[in-house]
Amino acid sequence: MVYLKTEDEIELLRQANLLVGKTLAEIARMIKPGVTTRQIDQLADTFIRDNGALPTFKGVPSPYGKPFPASVCTSVNDQVVHGIPTDKPLEEGDIVSVDCGTLLNGFNGDSCYTFCVGEVKPEVKALLKTTKESLYLGIQAALPGHRIGDIGYAVQSYCESHGYGVVRELCGHGIGREMHEDPMVPNYGRRGNGMKIQNGLCIAIEPMITMGSHEIGVLEDGWTVVTRDGQPAAHFEHTIAIHNGQPDIMSSFEEVELVEGKLY
Ligand code: MG
Ligand code: MG
Repeated sequence: MVYLKTEDEIELLRQANLLVGKTLAEIARMIKPGVTTRQIDQLADTFIRDNGALPTFKGVPSPYGKPFPASVCTSVNDQVVHGIPTDKPLEEGDIVSVDCGTLLNGFNGDSCYTFCVGEVKPEVKALLKTTKESLYLGIQAALPGHRIGDIGYAVQSYCESHGYGVVRELCGHGIGREMHEDPMVPNYGRRGNGMKIQNGLCIAIEPMITMGSHEIGVLEDGWTVVTRDGQPAAHFEHTIAIHNGQPDIMSSFEEVELVEGKLY
């Protein structure tokens, strides 16, 4: 069941997602070698609650075992998504994807950014750049009258043309009062396939792109998704609303990128 949103609902969705953008910017300010992913999680948890929202990832049930124990997912290097924060310090040259969800005034925010820790190898930076670019290509394809497959096609064709892998098992999703609503939004697809996109559709688009093979596995903790070949993976995510005939980005990397500009 796909719930199209009204103007008022889209504005509430925007507020929840702007808070995710602000949280990611706070995280951008603290990321450097020596910082642990648990410290990132603690900062996010406090910041989200101080702003009157709830961190939605905390306590999400797993089909494999324990509920998710933290407020953000922190996925380091070959971890693709759903990494659990730990006390292991980040090292120079690492990358870390921080996926953040908020519930504010009944609506969900969901956005992810992959950060560099200190100086990162040029080929890893290139992976991040292409993944982020593919997210915006996917967003540009999300026009009324197009179909969900057009989004996946845009992401997949761009990333594969750079020699990267596109993870198949996990995908983007509808979003609103629930963090995960219909439709599913795969990062692969064929043009003209899938549900028709229309005004009021609100979705999270989230390419998960690997340097090597797209094959993944899940660690024994029941959460952490890793690449099978141990190569790094990147993950960028925006929540968007199809609004007045255009894809309108609800979340924001603006502040994160301002901080990054100062650091790197
Ligand atoms: Mg997310
Ligand atoms: Mg998501």
